[in-house]
Amino acid sequence: MKRRRRRRGPRIATKALEEALVKRAKKLRDDPDFLFPECQGHEDHFFKNKIKFERVSRFKDNEKKLAALTKWGDQLSRVFATSLQMALREEVPRLMSIDLGGKDVSIVYNKKARKEILVGVQYFDDPDLRLLAFGRIAKLKRLHLYSMRDGFVCTGKEDKPPSKYVAEVLAAAKCSLTKKGECHICVHCEKEGVPYLKITWITPKVEVMLCQSCAKNENTYINLTKRFLSFDPKTSFRVEVYPNFKCECEDGSALNEMTIPPREALARYLEGGMDDIEFIDEHMEHVSENVPASAGMILALGNKCYGDDTEAFLNALNPSKIERQALEYLLEDLDESIVVESATPNKILMMYWDIYGVDILESIVGDPDIAENVFEKGQWKKDTPAKVLKTAMSKAKKDQIESALPKYRDLPPVAAFADRIVRAYKAKGKKSALMEINKAQSSPDTKIKSVRYAFLLAFSAATGKEWQFSKEETDFGVFLKDYSEKLMEAEGDDYHDSLQELLKASGSTQKI
Ligand SMILES: [Zn+2]
Ligand SMILES: [Zn+2]
Repeated sequence: MKRRRRRRGPRIATKALEEALVKRAKKLRDDPDFLFPECQGHEDHFFKNKIKFERVSRFKDNEKKLAALTKWGDQLSRVFATSLQMALREEVPRLMSIDLGGKDVSIVYNKKARKEILVGVQYFDDPDLRLLAFGRIAKLKRLHLYSMRDGFVCTGKEDKPPSKYVAEVLAAAKCSLTKKGECHICVHCEKEGVPYLKITWITPKVEVMLCQSCAKNENTYINLTKRFLSFDPKTSFRVEVYPNFKCECEDGSALNEMTIPPREALARYLEGGMDDIEFIDEHMEHVSENVPASAGMILALGNKCYGDDTEAFLNALNPSKIERQALEYLLEDLDESIVVESATPNKILMMYWDIYGVDILESIVGDPDIAENVFEKGQWKKDTPAKVLKTAMSKAKKDQIESALPKYRDLPPVAAFADRIVRAYKAKGKKSALMEINKAQSSPDTKIKSVRYAFLLAFSAATGKEWQFSKEETDFGVFLKDYSEKLMEAEGDDYHDSLQELLKASGSTQKI
């Protein structure tokens, strides 16, 4: 049972296909004009073909003569004779299957005729397939042919698509466009900030504009031309991509003038090798990488162009204080445009780090050797520029503090202890200072202990630690607190004097 059913399936399909072919052949026999495009506003370009068809038609009931005619005369006449054979026999011989871009089409074969003409004639009521019969003729005679759902029009040498044609091919596209005069546009193209594709059908002045977000995985050029035949359809169109940056600068962005896609990308698009989205994206990439030097420095982020306004560009990036300092230095030195879709300050720095990194760091630490050193370390550790900048910043701060304080060798223990605490505090803050204080926790020296208590008080960190000290030590610590605070604030010579005073106040007569 099952086997039989399975075998019957394809046979029924074939039967229906055969019947349709015969029916179509009969229709063509009764009115051969159905095959031809309608010449509008000019002399009939297919007059001679129609005369030839009439001659063939005289033998529509003569099987022998028709068989001869399938091998003789021009291509269209031969194929017409094949159809008349079908109509006469009311059945078809073996079918041949042809693959047309992934679609299987079955035809009755005539080895004396070209396949595409067989397809075009045997499917003359199919708006896509019928064009196949006229490809050569359109090229040879330089005709413009437009095939529609019902209608097939020739406008001769003029490229003048019927408005019905344009409406039909655009309606088949997935994006919804609004018609404004001869323009078909999406609602976003008139606003700034979204790149859009613009296809101009030059002679009829038909424009199609659709933006990046409305574009689909389709190729609008292919859609527009899929039922259009001419010598070279490409020459009828101008295809551009408008970057359409929102201008924060005064005299309009030079980026927005970059509407002509590179030759290679355009060729690929026109061949159907890219869809609209890919084409727009590729063009925007091209724009960001190919700003002409003549345009000077142009800074653009996302859909906004800031011209050469570095301040506005930096604000848009929202950098940290140190990143801003680095970027300011970079932008002042940089002689090229930065056009990026989305970016963090770090990403921008990364783009130029290899070349400008050392200079940027030098501008922060103020010393070429240190800059080089920090840079190399960063490269080795694969740190991000943002991280390296932080390292450089804290190194710079530490160096600055060190250079603001006197340098000592062989300080008396009490002075050395106080000095270590204050240097740690100035370089890295309270936490580091408390670590220095704790290091001396086991020292039995009562002077050290008093100084330790004094600093704990100065940092408001003494609470709960009183038990570590004797009554004398805490009393003395309270007395020394002012000296320690003064030392924390001092710099240069003042620091030296304050340290000496603290030492003296702790009961030492030593000179430092
Ligand atoms: Zn014509
Ligand atoms: Zn849109």
